[in-house]
Amino acid sequence: MSKFFGDYHTHTYYSDGLNSPKSLLEMAKEQGYKEIAITDHGLANKIMGLTRAKIDKLSCDIESLRQEYPDITIYQGYEGDLISFDGSTDIYDDIMEKMDIIILGFHRYIKPKYFKEVFTFVFRNGFLAKWFGSSKKLIEKNTNALLTALKSRRVNILAHINHNMKVDCKKVATFCAEQGIYVEINIKHLNIMEKVIGEILATGCLFIANTDTHNVKRSNNLNKIYDFITKHNIPHDRVVNLGKAPNFAEQFTKKI
Ligand SMILES: [Zn+2]
Ligand SMILES: [Zn+2]
Repeated sequence: MSKFFGDYHTHTYYSDGLNSPKSLLEMAKEQGYKEIAITDHGLANKIMGLTRAKIDKLSCDIESLRQEYPDITIYQGYEGDLISFDGSTDIYDDIMEKMDIIILGFHRYIKPKYFKEVFTFVFRNGFLAKWFGSSKKLIEKNTNALLTALKSRRVNILAHINHNMKVDCKKVATFCAEQGIYVEINIKHLNIMEKVIGEILATGCLFIANTDTHNVKRSNNLNKIYDFITKHNIPHDRVVNLGKAPNFAEQFTKKI
């Protein structure tokens, strides 16, 4: 039995995952989860992301899975993208309205808002940062963009902080702490979290542990995150899905 109440970041074949929605429910059942969120990639991922038609199809699948697995709460979610230095996202109003849970992250395979940002925003943060690092100026621009997005959209979970797009983690986590936004501990990016956990922990923010699974045959549990929490002495009451349910309905300090 998992120590965690649920997994709130998962992918299916409706975006770039290999999982069927049902296989995620089977994973949840095996782990003993009470809840699961299905959170495929947003509309700005033009090749592998969701479309509005796919969102509707997935809604139907989720509806029948709710009948089939009455003991597990299923959230329909969305992993949105930052698409510009100006803080725009692909979390459009109708989508924000429809989704139970919204995640925000930076991803490399997106169509940015402005053509000129294909290089300055997407390539620079997504592909070149590994080789060229990120200048102070770039980090500042990224941080401002992310803060603007978090201020203007209802985001429940900030995904994989500092993965590709580097930000001022202290500043961003401080804002998350003030607003009640959950900072994700993503099992795929523990090495990145390892470097910044000290400064993030000091802000007092809340965390949520997720697999971000794209294939349940390869990733189906949160055990490694429990080890990470223990190693870094993260207080258990700061991890919202450790042994208890996150309270999405009353999550935010300030209503957005
Ligand atoms: Zn992601
Ligand atoms: Zn993801």
